[in-house]
Amino acid sequence: MRKAAISGMHRRLWLVTIVVLSLFTLHCARDYVTGKRTFTLLTEADEIALGREADPQILAEFGVYDDLKLTAYVDQIGQAIAGVSHRPNLKYTFRVVDSPVVNAFALPGGWVYFTRGILAHFNSEAELAGVMGHEVGHIVARHGAEQISRAQLAGLAIGLGAALSPEFRKFSKFAEVGVGLLFLKFSRDQESESDRLGVEYATRLGYNAHEMANFFKTIARLSEKSGATMPTFLSTHPNPRDREKRIHALTREWQQKIEFQPKNVRRIDYLRRIDGIVYGEDPRQGFVESGMFYHPQMRFQFPVPERWQVKNSPASVQLTAPRQAAAIQLSLAKAATPEEAARRFTQNSKAAVLERRSMRIHGFPAVRLQSQVISDSDTLLVLSHFIQKEQTVFVFHGFTTHERYTDFRRVFSEVARGFDRLRNQAALRKKPWRVRIRKVNRAGTLQQVLSRYRIPGDRFEEIAILNGLELGDRVQAGQWIKIIEQK
Ligand SMILES: [Zn+2]
Repeated sequence: MRKAAISGMHRRLWLVTIVVLSLFTLHCARDYVTGKRTFTLLTEADEIALGREADPQILAEFGVYDDLKLTAYVDQIGQAIAGVSHRPNLKYTFRVVDSPVVNAFALPGGWVYFTRGILAHFNSEAELAGVMGHEVGHIVARHGAEQISRAQLAGLAIGLGAALSPEFRKFSKFAEVGVGLLFLKFSRDQESESDRLGVEYATRLGYNAHEMANFFKTIARLSEKSGATMPTFLSTHPNPRDREKRIHALTREWQQKIEFQPKNVRRIDYLRRIDGIVYGEDPRQGFVESGMFYHPQMRFQFPVPERWQVKNSPASVQLTAPRQAAAIQLSLAKAATPEEAARRFTQNSKAAVLERRSMRIHGFPAVRLQSQVISDSDTLLVLSHFIQKEQTVFVFHGFTTHERYTDFRRVFSEVARGFDRLRNQAALRKKPWRVRIRKVNRAGTLQQVLSRYRIPGDRFEEIAILNGLELGDRVQAGQWIKIIEQK
């Protein structure tokens, strides 16, 4: 959760809106890559409208990674790639989002996102340029627009609810369900086409696209590592090992096809760009430890029920009960007082108030509201607590079905009433891990070199992947490596 983020309860279902607006109006569009005419339901203006509408939601979901220099650098590479692409006239926006996950994605109309996680894992500008080419390729080849059109023609519902389990779907209008669905699943053919375009664009700019292939080795290792979070980028793409081979072949092809003039880019030049980048979850924006959620930046805490899942995004913290039988959402209200926040909630959600009470929670003025809300065809029972801490009104909504309410009412209440100031010094001082670059002064295996730093041994493998090396690989004196530091 982030200080600046104020979230509304209802997220606009932009995709649905667009689908409805352009339903069954077939547009004859040009395939920018082959020049052939193709049919899609979306015009270029539709594509841009889609991207523009979804962009703030992506930012609300992940937050912008706060590093202007790094963002300018990513933008510079992105604009160069866009310039040699088949659609150089679109206006492109390149962003770095604050997520530890290794991922990059694109929205129709010219929006491209790189997570700080993927930037930490690149080992050269050529890897970045290759993946950039791939993402720009999705936009150029109108893959997003194609996917949306196909879904429309098939009459599929691609609203937010589609990604949720049937159990949870009834909460979809109510909960912050995230932007999982903004990531359209591309087909294998589309991914292959984007790989080809990525190789072409990077090669045209003088990058050695073989390095992009190496990055798929990194991806393969990440996905093989047990317990790793699998980003959409990985799970929806073809097998990374196959892609690695194919990209090598495409690179040979393109280096012959055009007069390849290799650019002089050194590994260290890229590493300097990411020196100090936050690595892994950033505890300053909230973390769970021993059954407690701590938010050091906003200085609050609350208890997390056992076995509940916690999803922390800039706009909200969402807790989900086992088997998604209930959920608790914490967000910030756009209101000056708990009373005003409660009133707004009642109006906006058309809640039927069953009980309302003023109270204090650890000294904070609060309003508790029990209400009934109709969501789709379901009736949800909601226990809300509006709590004022300094200038901010925090809102806990616990919600479940009528039948389950008695089972969960106590948990809803305990979580909200456990809300308190964060005073735990260790939690307040908790620092994120960062990638740091170091010059190796004595040759050895990567394993030997890493043991010279104060890095927990169980993280060596992870750091080897970060460097695109194996632990047994020989590292020379004078070579630069990435390590991680908690500072
Ligand atoms: Zn892709």
